[in-house]
This record gives sequence, structure tokens and C-alpha cells, in this order.
Amino acid sequence: MMQGFVFDCYPDYQKNVMVTWLKTKQGIKKIEKSYHPSFYVNGSAQDLKQLRKTLSNKDGVKHVEYTKQKTELGNTQPKLVLAVIPYKLKDISSLAQQIQKEGNYQRYTLYNVDLRLSTRFLQDQHVFFNGLVTWTGKKFRVQDNQWNVDYQQPSFSQMPFDIITTNINQNQNSRQIKGIIVDDLLVETENEIDTILAGLRLIRKKNPDILLTINGDSFLFPLLQQRAMKHGILDALSFGRDNTNLKQIKQDSSYTSYGRVLYRPAWYVFHGRFHIDTKNSFFYQNGRFDGLLDVSRCANISLQILSRLGAGTAISQMQVNTAMKQGFLVPWNKRQPEQWKTAAMLLQTDRGGLILDPIPGIHGNVVEFDYASLYPHIMVQENISPETVLCSCCPHSSHRVPQLDYHICERKTGLIPTVLKPVIDRRFRFKARAKNNSYDTEKYTYLQQAWKWILLVSFGYTGYKNARYGRIECHESITAFSRNILLDAMHLAEHYGYQVLHGIVDSLWVTANNPTVSPSKLAMSISKQTGVRLDVKGSYDWIVFLKSKHHEYGALNRYYGRFTTGELKIRGIELRQHNTPVFVKNMQKEILHVFQKARSKEELKIKVSTAIHVVFKFMNQLVTRNVNSSELLFTSRVARTVDTYKVNNFVKAALQQKQDDGSIVHPGQFIEYVVCDKTSGSYQEKVCVKQRLSSETFFDVSFYLGYLCRCAETVLLPFEITEEWLLESFLTKAYKQQRRTR
Ligand SMILES: [Zn+2]
Repeated sequence: MMQGFVFDCYPDYQKNVMVTWLKTKQGIKKIEKSYHPSFYVNGSAQDLKQLRKTLSNKDGVKHVEYTKQKTELGNTQPKLVLAVIPYKLKDISSLAQQIQKEGNYQRYTLYNVDLRLSTRFLQDQHVFFNGLVTWTGKKFRVQDNQWNVDYQQPSFSQMPFDIITTNINQNQNSRQIKGIIVDDLLVETENEIDTILAGLRLIRKKNPDILLTINGDSFLFPLLQQRAMKHGILDALSFGRDNTNLKQIKQDSSYTSYGRVLYRPAWYVFHGRFHIDTKNSFFYQNGRFDGLLDVSRCANISLQILSRLGAGTAISQMQVNTAMKQGFLVPWNKRQPEQWKTAAMLLQTDRGGLILDPIPGIHGNVVEFDYASLYPHIMVQENISPETVLCSCCPHSSHRVPQLDYHICERKTGLIPTVLKPVIDRRFRFKARAKNNSYDTEKYTYLQQAWKWILLVSFGYTGYKNARYGRIECHESITAFSRNILLDAMHLAEHYGYQVLHGIVDSLWVTANNPTVSPSKLAMSISKQTGVRLDVKGSYDWIVFLKSKHHEYGALNRYYGRFTTGELKIRGIELRQHNTPVFVKNMQKEILHVFQKARSKEELKIKVSTAIHVVFKFMNQLVTRNVNSSELLFTSRVARTVDTYKVNNFVKAALQQKQDDGSIVHPGQFIEYVVCDKTSGSYQEKVCVKQRLSSETFFDVSFYLGYLCRCAETVLLPFEITEEWLLESFLTKAYKQQRRTR
């Protein structure tokens, strides 16, 4: 009998067993267990009969039999299907593919083919990653509850891991490893081979459960592998606890998502020990280790793998797990929506619920309201799921979608609401604890952030046809309900003497000049009427909604304002965008700092002249070249490979310079450069990449002046200060000054 936390789990294809690593009080223990999962085939009676015959004599098939299974969500009537059990774990997918081919890709429907084997195995044993279990020598017994909010945290040991290389600006191919850092120890010898080997020995000696790196996937391990190969010591390069050699299990790739090219580095993962690349991990970045661990438990995906996945994959796995628990087979999904990584982009693009463009300009006495997780609440409250919207069991249901008139099932709770309900509750509790000082508020802030993204993505997933349980009608239904809710809220606000300035997806901005009830009373009244909780997000002394740069209307999510607490809220301006040079960000920051002191709309207007002086000060620094060129670096996302750029723009020139220096920047990665001569046709003169910067770098003053003024205009346009006016006034002023000094 052995008690411990489930740490790692994966198939060993050679031995044909599942390997589970338990973290016990006595250390880490490896458990091997045989496992024979089946997959299922549905088709006409005739076809199945024939297939059964073929499969019975087929190599690699251990067993094939008729069985009754629930094949379709929402339909609890089991159907006769074939269960196929391969001899070998690794054969599931190839056998399934053969069957597909034999059925000309249309006669058979297959189930339970592409499931994450580790998750499926653990769920079959009724245990989960990071959960407390006992191992009897034959089977696991769970000592934990997967969705408990409070649980015993496993004591996995973590250590930072890093390498020191020769000059970082040097040609990538000749860069060498000078030192290796494990925890707080530095290994450094005269000889690169000795350094690598000594680093490996140190890891084995310290024996941490988890190595934390910054850019391990994108830089450290590829370089280690490359250097080890050069020295012929690849066989010694082993980081896991099973003594297999380091290898990338997934290649790096560039992919397109919502018209943007993104880059995903290769995966360097180990067995029995974990590598978490903190820099390239969505969940680590948003939720830190606590958030990663919590989602890992609930989704039943290992820490190491989950750290490389997005919120979409996590919610999708929870849906699969729930469907299987309810006894449904899971249809084979050939297109895994892995690119659904960045939920932020999803939000930017998905405007299905939009109602009201903002009224551009300066507004005083504004209150912002927002719905906490409006869409997930609607899915749960209205029972929206692919099998409940337009269900076949209740066509005359009185539960209808506004405007669209789709009917919704009245008999059964759908899969999506079943999955989301505990997620909403969980996040709600974490959010409450994050504000309660009797808890570790920092920890719970990270926990609620990790789950926030899962809830956000869950909406996008419902309409995504390549998602396993996606269906466009669900998506439409949710936005239809949300429009109604927001409209009701707006009408009530107006009824109580508020003017609505801006409403978007799940937020509402109103001015309160002659209200008959307080904002919190209004929020309560709206919550009661619409059935979804609306909160007062904050009151502003003033807020400035900015015009769109492309048309006359106010832009969505482009504003800045001062809360009555004195804090600023800033959205959508260059200051918040990662590609903006630090110098320009500092200018906007300083202007807003000036504005922050204004306690009313009227005071704000008085501050404008000070703000203009701020702009002039920065312009003056440019003209006198009193700027460190590293503050002028743009950071651009590379959209394609260097030879496919048609226009000779900044990015292409920068890429050409990098290429000359022997380094490759993949589409989706970022490149940093200073603009040296905008009009130059030569890529050597046009820009200067970060790695080449020196004190001699000469930047393009007139280009940066124009750019700076454009960014000043972003915040000052509501006061009728334009880019042209700034340039002209500055030059006139400089001219006058020159005359005076003469
Ligand atoms: Zn129904």
C-alpha cells in the first residue's frame, strides 16, 4: 500500500503499459499497469457484421465484440456498435484509420479514437492528475475530490534551470554553452562538454520534480541539443527520470489564427520529471503555478502538458471527460482546434453581442457596470448546448431563443451547462477569496485569472465548427440572449434617469446627471429583472471615449478615464500595445499622469496646455538626439518568411539583417528594430535590429517626430489637438527660439 499524489502518467509503447509516477512521502515511485482501451465503430448492421469478421482475423486486434453504447449526446437510447480492442496501445489510431479507409471514409462512424490516453486511463481508474491516491499494488484508490475548492497541495519540488551562453549577439550557429544553472548553483568549466555533463549530474543529484525555465522550449533545450549533437554526446543528454534521451515531441510551427500569424515553439518534455517553460505557457503566465495546478486537476491533464496548451483545450478536455462519465461515446474529431489559444484575440474579434457604439468625447460623472461572465451564465441559465438547442425530443418547447425562435430542450440539462456550472462556481469563489484578506489574496487572484480565460473561451468554442462540441446555433443563441439582456439593462438605466454612453458585450457605461436611484440600486434592479448579476465596476470623475482611427464613430474599447478613487483606466491606446517604443509609451504615460490629477471634466480641460508641453519636451529630446536608441525599438510580429515579403517594409529589412547575422525568425515570432532612414531603399540603412544597436546608431528624427505626434493625437484629439498642429507649433516655437538665441 502506497499513498501519494499522481504526478506524471503516459503510455510506454515499448512495454505496452501505462506508466504512472506517484509523489509519496518517501519520494517518487513509478507504477506500471497494463491497459487495454477500446474504440467503437458504428455503421449499418450489414457493414458491422462484415467488419467484425475482417477484424477478428486481423493482426493487432485483441478482441472485437458487439456492445450497446450511447453514441449521441442527448439520446440516452444505446445503439448496437462494435467495440475494438487493439493488442497495443500505439495501434488505436492506425487501426481506426484502416477501418475508415475500408469504409471509404463514409460507411463507419468511429468513437473514442483520439482521446488523450493518460487522461482516459486515469479517469478509468477514477483518479486524476495531482490528486491524492493510494496504490494497492493492483489498483488505485482515490483519496481526494477532483472539484473540491480546498485540497491538499502536492509538494512537487521546483527548481529554476538556465544556461549561460557566449555573446548573445553572436551568430546563432556558433553560440556556445558556458555555464548551466540549476536552482541557485552555477556549473561552469573550461570545456563545453564537461559543463553540459556536470549540469546533467547536478540535476540528477538534486532530483527536482519540476524544472522551470524561461524560453526552455524555444531556446535552452534546442541549443543544448544542438551543442550535444556537435560534441557527439546526445546519448548522455537525459533530463527525465526514465533515462530516455532529450527529444522534441512536437515540432515548432507557425499558424494563423484570426488573420494573425502566431508561433508555437517545439515541445521539450520529459518523463517522470517535468519541464515547464514559464515564458511560453499560457496558464503559467495567467495563473502562475497555483492556477496551472488547479486547472490541471479539474481537466485531468498533466502539469507539463497543460502548461503548453491553451484555455480552449482545457475546456474541451473537461467536456470530453464529462461526456464519458455520463456514458457517452466521444466522436472522433479529426481537426483539433489547437490554434484556439489566445482568448484575448477571440474577444477582440467576436462582436456578436455588440449593441451600442460609444459617444466619442469627454464625459463627466460616468458609471461603469459589468456582468460577471455573462455568456457562460447564459449558457447555464438557458441550457444552451449542441444537443439541447433545436433538440429532437421537444420541438414544442416553450423555452425559445429571442428573435431566432430556436427551441431549447426542456427535459435534459445539456453537456455544456453541466461542464460550465462548476467552473462558474469555482471562479466565483476564487474571485471572492481574492478580495478577502483572510485568504492568500495573491494566490486566489491567479486562480481566478486562470479560470477566467476558460470561461471566456467556452463561449467562442460553442460556435466553432471544428470544436468537438461546437455548433453555430449555440453561438447565435447566446448572443441573442445577451443582446436582450443588455437592451433590458439599458432601458432600465434610462428609466431611472441615466444616459447610456456605451454598451459592449457585457459592459455598460452611463452618465449619472439626474439619477433617481444610486448606481448600486440600479445594478440590483437590473440583476433582478434580467436574472444575471450586474455589478458596479466603478465610477469615473471623467472618461474620454476616443474616436476610431478608421471612421467617425467611437472605437470599441479605446478610452481612458479617472475613477473617483483617483486610479486611471486605460484601454486600446498605443501605451497598452506591445509594439510601441518605450519612448512613445513614456510620453503617453506622462500626459495621462498630468490628466490623472484632474478631478472633473472642467479641471481636465485646464490640464491640456501642460499636456502639450509634455509632447514638446519629448519632441525636443528627439530633435536634440537626447534619446537612448533602445527606447525607440519597435516590436513587430513577423507574418511570413523573409523571402515572401513583397514590400520592402521595416520588418522585411529587419529580417534581412537577422538573416545576414545567421539567425532565423519564424513567422509568429517577434522582431525588434529602430527606424534609421524611412525612405532608404537599402535594408542595411532602413532599420537597425536590436542586436546591432550601438551608441553610433542614428535614428530617423523626422519619422519619430511624426510617429510621436500621431500617438499624442490619440489622447489629445478630443481636445482638438491634432498631429499637424503639434508638429507645426513645435517647429514655429523652435524657430522663434533659434531667432532669440541668435
Ligand atoms: Zn428536448
